[in-house]
Amino acid sequence: MKKWLFCVALLSVAILQAQQTYLHCGKIIDTDKGKVLTEKTLVISEGKIRQVADGYIIPEDAGDKVIDLKNKTVLPGFVDMHVHLEHETNPKRYLARYTENEADVAFESAVFAKRTLMAGFTTVRDLGGSGVNTALRDAVKKGYVAGPRIFSAGKSIATTGGHADPTNGSRKNLMGDPGPKEGVINSPEGARKAVRQRYKNGADVIKITATGGVLSVAKSGRNPQFFIDEIKAITETAADYGMLVAAHAHGDRGMQRAVLGGVKTIEHGTFMSEETMELMKKHDAYYVPTITAGKEVAEKAEVKGYYPELVVPKAREVGPQIQGTFARAYKKGVKIAFGTDAGVFKHGENAREFQYMTEAGMPEMEAIQSATVTPAILLGMENEIGQLKEGFLADIIAVDDDPVKDIKTLQNVVFVMKEGVVYKKEGAAQ
Ligand SMILES: [Zn+2]
Repeated sequence: MKKWLFCVALLSVAILQAQQTYLHCGKIIDTDKGKVLTEKTLVISEGKIRQVADGYIIPEDAGDKVIDLKNKTVLPGFVDMHVHLEHETNPKRYLARYTENEADVAFESAVFAKRTLMAGFTTVRDLGGSGVNTALRDAVKKGYVAGPRIFSAGKSIATTGGHADPTNGSRKNLMGDPGPKEGVINSPEGARKAVRQRYKNGADVIKITATGGVLSVAKSGRNPQFFIDEIKAITETAADYGMLVAAHAHGDRGMQRAVLGGVKTIEHGTFMSEETMELMKKHDAYYVPTITAGKEVAEKAEVKGYYPELVVPKAREVGPQIQGTFARAYKKGVKIAFGTDAGVFKHGENAREFQYMTEAGMPEMEAIQSATVTPAILLGMENEIGQLKEGFLADIIAVDDDPVKDIKTLQNVVFVMKEGVVYKKEGAAQ
């Protein structure tokens, strides 16, 4: 009896393995060559793209499935290089750290992760949270939570009173004196310890706040907040553990120090000078613009009481600048990787960024490449994601129209598959 059951189990495993999904794609974007192709079939099994064939192939095996995307445009799943899945903009956000437990944050972040995935973002880099972001990464990996593949920075690293000092704006007796463990450093020694602590906590990437920031309860939104020896200690230590360093930066001087110190991606880059752009090209650093966040904070600054008093003038100053900086940096030839700072605005609206990028002069196809092939390189996954190619992971999305002709269609993703599993399909309940 037992032997018989075992055979059935083996047989069903064999059948499962053989099952393939055929996607009939009306249009398909070749992100490597920057071309729109027509009438292709993608054959998927075991989470990977097995074949990219011309025309619409009908499977021979009755167990195989066909998904009709003949009147859609099919693309690789997008990558957002800058999100914060633990939180979302809310006028009460500044209270949350005193009222919410880790478990509350975790449940909310699961909702935000799902919304992000449903918007067509199959991979994200979470650039700063409490550590729940890292646990969320693992929960997604295990299949407990529907969400994008996450590269987590854990908790960002700041200097005392800096943008990511977790006790900014607190009552004095609640401030304490956070150190490297909490992500606050004031020396190269502290910097090394903070990076190693993040490695110990399971981080994939290191995030520093190289200058002041908009939403922290502190006066300056753009002053430099790290010395170059501290930045170098961070990037050199991170390199030992195979991690890249991302730097939040609005002001130019802090940005320059970050690039000179070996930081790989500059986030926001608001007041970036021509000199810094040249420096970035020379050091092969990438710009992650987050225009959407800039638009959002400028808008919310005009809503009375939405942000604390100290934040309002910073939001007004920084917010409207980013799109113009992006336009100049793109023209200058700085490498661009797509990133939005989702969480500063509603999760799931990440694709707004495409529209702002093209408004600022980037061609549609290049904007799509900045969210596919380019971040794949930065994440060390250039042979796995960012392209619809044989052997790549089946991270596949579809939209109604051709995004090269109408970029706004990317804000309405109608089909989402991640590693071969369908999460969203027109007409199906979600
Ligand atoms: Zn951010």
